[in-house]
Amino acid sequence: MKTCFVCKRKYDGYGNNAQPLKKGQCCDFCNATKVLPARIREHFNSRRKKP
Ligand SMILES: [Zn+2]
Repeated sequence: MKTCFVCKRKYDGYGNNAQPLKKGQCCDFCNATKVLPARIREHFNSRRKKP
């Protein structure tokens, strides 16, 4: 069992990289609902800085 760094719940499986939201691993649910949107935002923000 691992602990999700985002929702602090225990989960089974491989886990997902929670960056850029958190440093650590997160569950599939948080990955899909929180980490991926945050990653997409980061991606667009970093692109916007360089015209
Ligand atoms: Zn989670």
